[in-house]
Amino acid sequence: MKVRELIKAFKPYEWEPSRKEISERIGIPEEEILRFDLNTVPFRPEEILKALSEKLPSLPVNEYPDPSYRELREALSEYLKVNPENIMVTVGADEALDIMAKTFIDPGTVALVSAPTYSMYRITVEALGGRIVEVLRNPDFSDDLEALIEQSRKPETRMVFLCSPNNPTGNLTPQEDAVRLLESVGCAVMVDEAYAEFSGTSLVNLAEKYENLMVVRTFSKAFALAGVRIGYVVASRKTIELLSKVRPPNSVSVTSLALAKIALEKADFLLAKAREITAERERLSKALSRIEGLTVYPSHANFLLVKFEKADALKVYMELLSRGLVVRRLSGPMLENCLRITVLDKASNDKLLGALKEILGGKG
Ligand code: PMP
Repeated sequence: MKVRELIKAFKPYEWEPSRKEISERIGIPEEEILRFDLNTVPFRPEEILKALSEKLPSLPVNEYPDPSYRELREALSEYLKVNPENIMVTVGADEALDIMAKTFIDPGTVALVSAPTYSMYRITVEALGGRIVEVLRNPDFSDDLEALIEQSRKPETRMVFLCSPNNPTGNLTPQEDAVRLLESVGCAVMVDEAYAEFSGTSLVNLAEKYENLMVVRTFSKAFALAGVRIGYVVASRKTIELLSKVRPPNSVSVTSLALAKIALEKADFLLAKAREITAERERLSKALSRIEGLTVYPSHANFLLVKFEKADALKVYMELLSRGLVVRRLSGPMLENCLRITVLDKASNDKLLGALKEILGGKG
């Protein structure tokens, strides 16, 4: 087969193994494995599923969905207090990234990322023959705004990817920094707010004002629907029209649309759950920072970045794994000897704390 040249040397996304694969590898039953590596919430939204089951018999699954996903956009418009024309629905946030890259990236052009950050930005850009330039964050993980502005002004730069709260560091891009960037550069600025509900802040209200701003959101995190695959973009009408040129017409399923709409009807409940998780995050963060040799970074998301000052993070990862506790390994600049831990329920988090104390015990 004749494949594209760039695919030959392509560095793909590192897929998380399935529960079944982990279970087979470590010999612990699937149901005993705790996933601290996926940044999803630790509960199944049963109320949403029950409401869907009532609607299922009348779902028009023999037809394609309304390609404009109008009903969901209208429900989102109420939730976000923006116009439906400012919203585009996608298959998870990841499809939104793909659509943006297809809109802005020509082979040989550049997209900037404020690194370290979510790896899919690189993958979507490089898959189209674009080049990623990593602008390394400041030591406190804040964006290096001056460097981003300088790089953005170069003619080959088409896009900047920001992530707020940032995966895996957990910090926010302050609104004034985002606004300065938006006002200083002409290129598109994507702000990934996949974890926004845990932070209580968002830039969606700026979308109509700044034509170069595209905010990406998802139902996968606080809305407990990662398996349903729904995301959306909030941007100016003009920018939504531009992105719509390459959006596939029917990628979101009728069942996913129905689930997302029900989730929005239950937004108060889900947002209350998100607040519980942020309270638990603070408890876990304090407890972890009491363990000697561990640095815990402040987080506005549902996960914590931790650095092992004395122990080897890979060894800690393996020890945790052997106990059925799966955390996220990390690599690359600024993340040396770090692991990422998703905040689960109190009982699960306590298991992790106990295991970490045991593993690090004595080593300080
Ligand atoms: N953006 C960030 C920052 C993420 O961490 C993730 C999921 N890990 C995504 C986007 C993808 O979200 P979705 O499930 O909506 O595709």
